[in-house]
Amino acid sequence: KNLKKYFPIKGGVLKKTIGNVKAVDDITFNVKRNETLSLVGESGCGKSTTGRTILKLYEPTSGEIFLNGQKISDIPRGKFRRMRKDIQMIFQDPFSSLNPRMTVRSLLLEPLLTHKLASRKEANELVGEMIEKVGLSKEQLDRYPHEFSGGQRQRISIARALIVKPKVVILDEAVSALDVSIQSQILNLLIKLQEEFELTYVFISHDLNVVQHLSDRVGVMYLGQMMELGETKDIYNNPLHPYTRALLSAIPSLDPYEKKERIILHGDVPDPSNPPSGCPFRLRCPKAHDRCAEEKPRFLEKEKNHWVACHLFDE
Ligand code: SF4
Ligand code: MG
Repeated sequence: KNLKKYFPIKGGVLKKTIGNVKAVDDITFNVKRNETLSLVGESGCGKSTTGRTILKLYEPTSGEIFLNGQKISDIPRGKFRRMRKDIQMIFQDPFSSLNPRMTVRSLLLEPLLTHKLASRKEANELVGEMIEKVGLSKEQLDRYPHEFSGGQRQRISIARALIVKPKVVILDEAVSALDVSIQSQILNLLIKLQEEFELTYVFISHDLNVVQHLSDRVGVMYLGQMMELGETKDIYNNPLHPYTRALLSAIPSLDPYEKKERIILHGDVPDPSNPPSGCPFRLRCPKAHDRCAEEKPRFLEKEKNHWVACHLFDE
């Protein structure tokens, strides 16, 4: 709720704060139990920072975070440790998130034993079950991460995240580094495991094809702000925000006869330490008008469960 995460910029000889990178700038959204909410946008739009802030890897600058109705943003980091297992994160590059000196068995045992979730005997049994649930075998438990392919390593990361029975899993570009054929295998695995463990996913991605396949709802971010939020079918079939329209027009169509008008966005994403006045998208927006420079658009529920921040929908 009203989440902000600013990173100070230090400058001068005294290393004083001379400005802020507004990585996440006042966003509000919810994720329902057992749902997949995707956050999309170009790199630097604040989607990863949002994920890390939810996980309390970063302290929010302001705003509130709730899990099952409990405000977790106020819990000091030390006390949060017991709840830490409830929110897990899976990263893009499993090679850097898996300690290369640990066997798969130790990688999976570690979270169970550090969170004191099982005795050693029970933990060993759980590890055997979990490795098979992600499509690998018990025989592979005594191998090291480098002995596996990228897709297999991502299966190991998934097993390590899920073995502690989390409630929420944040997937940050979790399939982006994989070949397309492997991507779909991992996505299908994620969907299967979500059903089995009743997981809630926050899926962070720049790939709109993948997002469409997997999400119940989609949030479109730009310069740290939420531009549009709605059910997947509404976002894809009836995008409202000019930025969402531009992003969707850039997806290659599978149907060669379908004529799609490609909306070209000019210029780069502005510097997040010096965002434009009014609407953050106005410098690149084909529909920008006077009001866009003067006033920041409100985030309004334009249709049922379909939110948008754009003056075109608030006149
Ligand atoms: Fe474009 Fe104005 Fe809407 Fe922003 S508020 S997206 S600049 S039309
Ligand atoms: Mg990122």
